Amino acid sequence: MSGPAGPHHAPAVLTIDLDALAWNWRFLNDKATPARAAAVVKANGYGLGAPIVARKLAKAGCRLFFTAHLDEAIALREALADPAIEIGVLNGLCPGEEMIYRAHALFPVLNDLGQVAHWRAYCRDVGEHVPAALQIDTGMTRLGLPAAEVERLIADPGLMDGISFRYLMSHMACADTPDHPLNRQQLERFRRAVDAIPHTIAMLAASSAIFLGPEWHFDMVRPGVALYGGRPVDGVENPLRQVVRLDAKILQIQDVDAPQTVGYGASHKIEEPAKIATVGVGYADGYLRSLSGKATAVLDGVTIPLVGRVSMDLLTFDVSKAPSAKPGDWIQLIGPDHPVDALADQAGTIGYEILTGLGPRYARRYLGDAG
Ligand SMILES: *Cc1c(COP(=O)(O)O)cnc(C)c1O
Repeated sequence: MSGPAGPHHAPAVLTIDLDALAWNWRFLNDKATPARAAAVVKANGYGLGAPIVARKLAKAGCRLFFTAHLDEAIALREALADPAIEIGVLNGLCPGEEMIYRAHALFPVLNDLGQVAHWRAYCRDVGEHVPAALQIDTGMTRLGLPAAEVERLIADPGLMDGISFRYLMSHMACADTPDHPLNRQQLERFRRAVDAIPHTIAMLAASSAIFLGPEWHFDMVRPGVALYGGRPVDGVENPLRQVVRLDAKILQIQDVDAPQTVGYGASHKIEEPAKIATVGVGYADGYLRSLSGKATAVLDGVTIPLVGRVSMDLLTFDVSKAPSAKPGDWIQLIGPDHPVDALADQAGTIGYEILTGLGPRYARRYLGDAG
């Protein structure tokens, strides 16, 4: 069986398919047309490497990127020198950081009236309408102007004197559940703000809301997880391409022919003769301990169960159904036969957590032209 190529000693190889990533961006951009798609690359591009991901997407035509933190955005600007590419910081403006945004050609997402006032003062000081985004909270109760602040802003447009909002945005709470009543409520609240607050570009949808339909698209959409192959809508077949593949090398195989147990806590009991394969990945690599006794993987096209507890650096699989398995063979932990969301479901979590937890010890291999 052939494994991932390349000179490295890591017992596991994380393969990131940049062409699949670009395909996903184009798919989402087409789906949202006439709106255009930005890209959310926070948390190091959902664990896949923000600079490489962003350069590839910029080459595919993406012109707007978001990070969560200012420091992420400063680092991203190093990778995206083209001044026509805009980079915004979702988590908001901390007073005193205003000039850093301008110095690095970044823009803040202003999330309350205090931040709006600081930005206004800054624009007055520099005598320029420095671009910024305004986020309103339509139902997350997280970041963004709460409803009462939105009403104050609408009632007193003087609060916006000297500022122009390049983006007006909000974020959906339940868009992965198309029938949830909050979806339409958030849409109506956002529409009211779009009508009443001067702005250039309105954007509401992240990955899931793109699939709620054109009403949710406004001028731009803002996908994250779907770019990386994550399932945007629960219970519906995922139309995106898989971007991530994680293969781990079998370090050792034990043939067990007497009743015995596997791993810490002796949690898995072997009653029948079995072949147990050990690979060098563990919870320190983001393979969640909660997958103990629940995960599966794929070897030679055969689905094999994880047995025993997940250790810090090791996993054990029952490979009895793949009798030709031998040390050096590769087990697919994540990939086309076992997508990120399938593993997430087994852990009782979401694909986002699996992706952003992918550890630093994997040998990382990027497929496709890096752009
Ligand atoms: C994370 C985030 C996104 C992207 O969300 P996905 O569900 O990954 O597409 C978009 N907008 C905001 C405000 C976010 O925090």
